[in-house]
Amino acid sequence: MTSQNHFFAAIRAAMPDLSKPLATHPDGAMETYGDALALSARLANVLVKRGVKPGDRVAVQVEKSWTAFVLYLAALRAGAVYLPLNTAYTLAELEYFLSDAEPTVVVVRPEVAGDVKALAAKLGVPHVETLGSDGKGSLTEAAAGESESFEDVPRAADDLAGILYTSGTTGRAKGAMLTHENLLSNAVTLRDYWRFTSDDVLIHALPIFHTHGLFVAGDIILMAGASMIFCPKFDASEVLRLMPKATTLMGVPTFYTRLLDHPGLTREATAHMRLFVSGSAPLLAETHRAFQEKTGKAILERYGMTETGMNTSNPYDGERIAGTVGFPLPGVSVRITDPATGAVLGADEIGSIEVKGPNVFKGYWKLPEKTASEFHDGFFITGDLGKIDARGYVHIVGRGKDLVITGGFNVYPKEVEGEIDALPGVLESAVIGLPHKDFGEGVTAVIVRTPGASLTEAEVHQALEGRLAKFKLPKKVFFVDELPRNTMGKVQKNILRDTYKDTYRSVA
Ligand code: ATP
Ligand code: MG
Repeated sequence: MTSQNHFFAAIRAAMPDLSKPLATHPDGAMETYGDALALSARLANVLVKRGVKPGDRVAVQVEKSWTAFVLYLAALRAGAVYLPLNTAYTLAELEYFLSDAEPTVVVVRPEVAGDVKALAAKLGVPHVETLGSDGKGSLTEAAAGESESFEDVPRAADDLAGILYTSGTTGRAKGAMLTHENLLSNAVTLRDYWRFTSDDVLIHALPIFHTHGLFVAGDIILMAGASMIFCPKFDASEVLRLMPKATTLMGVPTFYTRLLDHPGLTREATAHMRLFVSGSAPLLAETHRAFQEKTGKAILERYGMTETGMNTSNPYDGERIAGTVGFPLPGVSVRITDPATGAVLGADEIGSIEVKGPNVFKGYWKLPEKTASEFHDGFFITGDLGKIDARGYVHIVGRGKDLVITGGFNVYPKEVEGEIDALPGVLESAVIGLPHKDFGEGVTAVIVRTPGASLTEAEVHQALEGRLAKFKLPKKVFFVDELPRNTMGKVQKNILRDTYKDTYRSVA
């Protein structure tokens, strides 16, 4: 093993002058690379004193903060496996994650310390530490007394650096085991593909418990020796205010729809920004076009997942095509296969998206059988459906689990949603399949109207009739005020399917 296989050693090697800011807070306060080195050493010393051994899990469920970000570096340095958890998870959900992950240390918000200590005692988790969004808590108190030097614990390329739970959009979240090599290849590839240099300043407004904010945004900045403005959360006015001081933004599609709703989004406001990236959920082609019209800048859409980091990206220099996720990244192979036979399909044929490369995870934590069943000849079966067009652009048509099969025909919700979203009076829509007595599943649309619009079910039917084949037409339309979304902005179709599950059960 060379020291470069250790992801933190690679981060260390890429570090600029230690006086350079790694993170600035929206109020202008600065944290340098040197601060990150010193604080991560202090925190790593605490972890080792709490008995953390190489490969032990350090579970963290805290608000986004500079200290929380540095704790990730400390875990890497201590040879531990960093395991961030969504702050939205309840105590009951935390119980599941802690019993699944069996961490040596769990770090939580001070407000829940009492409850978590009781839980930890029950589950045999040895240490509970606290960390508030203000950087205060038992963890930082302990760190204050520690040394700023720490000898990084060696790790091999194939050793685990993190376990990240998937977003739980399609069911119970699964722990994806990511190695030092996974993180390193992802960070280096993206830094180079998206041309990050030490001159970049990223507006970091994503959560850091998810792959997007931590292993994409955070790691790229570290590998480029660049800086980030560390926002506690996304706020359109705040992000617009920061743009003249920044060069790049990474976001989920809702960031862009909210920016578009803001009157401050103009060419002038975005003039200093060189790159806008979108991912984690599909970016509507309409959002892409509207953003380009207002700013003169084409959002770069990419496709990734917890298990694989980034798979594909629209080009930096070439044409960024709305509604596509671009080309496989260097070193990553993407292919489309027939879900029934496994045969590799040709251009423009829709099938299962499979991925292979140094970015692909080691497997699901404690789920060897599930892991084995999700690989096909060395390729990871993403669960997403899509096609590769003749020019090589990858298109996602939806998740395999969201595919609607009605009367034996396949209906891709994204196609129907695209037609509905284009109707006047529609803000957005979700198309789902519901159990249907006669057809197996019935195509169903759930629509959010634009404010003040009075669109009716009959009007939707009438408008779609000439545009879609009969079997693709929604059999029923529901209007709602908003679609259920998780913290990454993903529409939770399982909730919609559950809400409306009995719609066609009584159909004669
Ligand atoms: P779970 O696996 O627990 O159901 P999840 O798949 O939402 O949750 P993540 O790993 O956070 O968990 O998300 C990855 C998924 O997000 C991808 O498989 C894909 O469905 C979707 N996704 C990511 N980027 C894009 C994109 N640009 N366009 C469309 N879908 C995307
Ligand atoms: Mg998934």
